[in-house]
Parts: sequence; structure tokens; C-alpha cells
Amino acid sequence: MSEKRPTTTTDSGVPATNDERSLTVGPQGPTALHDHYVVQKMQHFNRERVPERVVHAKGSGAHGFFETTEDVSQFTKAGLFQPGTRTPMFARFSTVAGEQGSPDTARDPRGFALKFYTEQGNYDLVGNNTPVFFVRDASKFQDFIHSQKRLPDTGMRSNEMQWDFWTLSPESAHQVTILMSDRGVPRTYRHMNGFGSHTFSWQNSGGEKFWVKYHFKTVQGSETYTEDEAVEMASQDPDAHRRDLRKAIDDGDAPEWKLEVQVMPFEEALDYRFNPFDLTKVWPHSDYPAIPVGRMVLDRNPDNFFAEVEQAGFSPSNLVPGIGLSPDKMLMGRIFSYHDTHLHRIGPNYEQLPINSPKVEVHSYNFDGPMTYINKGDQPVYAPNSKGGPVADGENGADLSWEVEGGELGRYENPKHREDDDFGQAGTLVREVMDDAKRDALVENIVGHASAEVTGETQDRVVAYWTNVDRGIGDRVASGLKRSTQAATPPQAEVPSSV
Ligand code: NDP
Repeated sequence: MSEKRPTTTTDSGVPATNDERSLTVGPQGPTALHDHYVVQKMQHFNRERVPERVVHAKGSGAHGFFETTEDVSQFTKAGLFQPGTRTPMFARFSTVAGEQGSPDTARDPRGFALKFYTEQGNYDLVGNNTPVFFVRDASKFQDFIHSQKRLPDTGMRSNEMQWDFWTLSPESAHQVTILMSDRGVPRTYRHMNGFGSHTFSWQNSGGEKFWVKYHFKTVQGSETYTEDEAVEMASQDPDAHRRDLRKAIDDGDAPEWKLEVQVMPFEEALDYRFNPFDLTKVWPHSDYPAIPVGRMVLDRNPDNFFAEVEQAGFSPSNLVPGIGLSPDKMLMGRIFSYHDTHLHRIGPNYEQLPINSPKVEVHSYNFDGPMTYINKGDQPVYAPNSKGGPVADGENGADLSWEVEGGELGRYENPKHREDDDFGQAGTLVREVMDDAKRDALVENIVGHASAEVTGETQDRVVAYWTNVDRGIGDRVASGLKRSTQAATPPQAEVPSSV
């Protein structure tokens, strides 16, 4: 190479004398501890990793934009959803239970995390490729994830543990039906839909509020792997999804999703046939049809995986004016948990890193701490102050509220609406959306999964669980597992209860 190459330096920028040899006393003598260049190489190497995410550890990301092509201003005043607005964004897709090196084609939900760098600050929509979830109360989230990860004694995952948790948590049935269906293993990240999953609130410029659900429909079409294809791909190329996304964008084949929303007038929530804030339920399209909003295009690969994908920190608490929360108890928990995990994983100033940093000026009263590099200089550090410091805007801030009935502090079940039960919507999916081939694949996947090191007692509960979803599926699972058929349990009571 004729071009002059740069000189290696220490991290302080001082020229280094040798890239390959330690400083020793004679050719065979001991290594000198004051060889700080080599010592610091070792020290930095030992600190190269940040803790991997407890969930969604294996992920891939890409930059792009969101463009609002329709007029939904009657529902929200959020700047990014005003007609014609184009907002830069970053997306991270992931599996849930596996660690950093785990295969992309595992049967698992996929994370669908979006960060929009809007002119009103960052808006994060941290969803999945499924419209529902396994549990409906954040109190059960950690237990659910423990059941999907590894046993403390053997360090291995356990199908027994997974079915034990699921069958004792009947609210999981809808999500487990999707997981065990063909959609349980997307062919690529490009070929899956994304959902905000929770119900959120929108508010228009006149102050009117709505409940809303987000659906990102893949323009590439939904494509999946069969269980056999997924297992084969896991050994052939554990990074198949990562490679596919990277290559498509490098080849100029930018993947695209259309955003549709379902909108429920605020007052209808009270009497809707399903509890609209229950994360285990969808709103059937016949009740609330899809309203088009815009399109999301991912057209730029990260330059640095660690800086952009690993250090990205998404939090559902990042909301912008015109978008708010709902009383979904899982969402309430996630509002705390996501920011907290990034404080632990990356550090208290993770939002100063370029991937997380908003494209608008930040004027908060939080400052200093490990690795801060955006310093406030001579600025008041408390509010209220008479020194010209920032002042909150009660009119236009991002807080959205909703009315709650006064009540006693207690540990309540979700209020049950007319048609709420744990199995009904899963049954609808099996009977009305799937065809025979999809039902066959569902049974095959359940039987395969529940055969591997699952006890007879748990298998009986597996049969009862599927019988509650659908009598025919339950009987076929019983036959596949060589267990007796089970009676369906009576529909659950509609009485709200508290403990
Ligand atoms: P629709 O017929 O209007 O919609 C059915 C939906 O199911 C479509 O969005 C379709 O996605 C999706 N779908 C197809 N196969 C699967 C699968 N194996 N796993 C998950 N989703 C799948 O029906 P309804 O709105 O009345 O809902 C009926 C059932 O469909 C629900 O009980 C729920 O299980 C499921 N569903 C409903 C959604 C909703 O928000 N209403 C969203 C997703 C699923 P696509 O258009 O990509 O084919």
C-alpha cells in the first residue's frame, strides 16, 4: 500500500511504538507492568461489552423515515402525523428470549421498536410483531420471561417450564396461538407486520381524545418459515434475519411498512364488548376498521453496530404532544421499566448518545453523572428560578390524562367486559382466520413443542388449554401427545373482582 497509514496511538492520542510486542526484560524476561499501552489494551478489552438486554438481546436495526401520507389531524395534533410530514427514524427488530448469539429463526415473538426523531422530541413506539401479549399485568412479566429463559441449575431452557407457566396463565392463550401458528417464525424481519400492541391515546388540536391501536403492515407481504425450515436455517445461518435486512438495504431494496390505525372514540371504551386496555385482546376490524396513516421506509444501514443497534435505548415513556397512554397495566409497567433498564445497561446519560439523542435542543434540569458530555454551562439547575431557566408548558406539554373512578387501593383483576374471556379471540383466530393447512401446522407445532421433555401432568393441562381454545384442536393435540382428551372449562365469570 503506497498511501501513508496513520500512526497507532493510545486512547489519549499519544503515538504508540509497537502494535505486536509487550515490553519485557530481555527477550525471555518478565513483562513490565508499566507497559501501559499493552495493559490498557487488556483493560479496555475486558470492558468491551455492556450487559445484554435481559429480553430482546439479539437484534438488528436500520435507519429510515416515516412519511404521513393521509390526513389524521382530526384524531391527533402530533407533529409527525400531520399530512406530508417526513420524520427520520430508527427501527430495531429482535427475538425475545435468546441471547446475543442465538439463532434469528427461533419460534419467538419479534420486537418491533421504533424511534421517531420528531420536531417535538423523540417518540418511541416499542411494539412486537404480534398485536397481543402473553400476560396483561406487569406484575407477571418477570415470571413469564423467567419461564422462557434458562433454569438456574442446568442453565438450559425448558419446554416443561414454558407450558407450566402458559397453562397456569390462561390469558396467554391468544398470544401462544399466534406463536405456535405459521406466524411464529417470520421468514425475515422484512416479511412481518408490526404492532404498537397496547392501546394508546391520541388528542387533536381541539382537545378531543381518542383511543388508538397501531398496525404496521409489511409491504413485502407476510412470509414465514415452517418449523423444519426454521430449524435448518438456525444451523445454516444463525444471523439469517440480520443478514437479510442488511443485504436488502445495501442492494437498494428498502423495506416498507404501511401504518394503519384503529381509532375508538374515547367514550366507547367503557361499554365496548372487550376491555380495550387488555393487552391479550385485539379490537376486531369489523368493530374498528383500519385507517391509513402513512409509510415507514428503512433505507440506511448502521455504520456501527454497537453504537447504533446495541446502544439504542427505546422507551414507551418517550411520547410527544398529541400522543398519550392508556390504563393498560402492562403499558404502565413498561413506562418505568424500559428507561430503567437503559440506565443500568448503558448508563444514566444514555440519551446523550447520538443514536438516542433527540434532534431538538434538550432543556432539562437533569445534569452531570457518569460519562456526561453535554454540559449545561452557566444555567440554573433548579426550578422554579428567576434566572432565565427553562419553564414547562402546561398547554402544549406531552401529558395526556384520562378520567379514573375513585376507588380503594387494591390488587385488581382487569374489569371484564361483556365478551371477555381468555380463549375467545384465540378461538376466532383458529376457526375464522386460519385455513386447514394453518390449523394442521398449528397442531404440529404444539405437539412438537409440548412433546420435548414435558411431563404427563403438564401435557394434560396443555390438552385442556387447547380444548378451551377450540375443541377440535384440543382433541388433535391430545391424540398427538398420546394423552386423554379433556373437557373444556366453563366460560369465565363476568364479575370484576379485587383482592
Ligand atoms: P380480520 O379477518 O379482519 O383480520 C385477521 C388478521 O389476522 C389479519 O390482520 C391477518 O394479518 C392476521 N393473521 C392471519 N393469520 C394470522 C396468524 N397466524 N397469527 C396472527 N395473525 C394472523 O379479523 P378480526 O379483526 O375480526 O380478528 C380475528 C382474529 O384475527 C383475532 O381474534 C386475532 O386473533 C387475529 N388478528 C386480529 C387483528 C386485529 O387487530 N383485529 C390483528 C392481527 C390478528 P394479515 O392482514 O397480515 O394477513
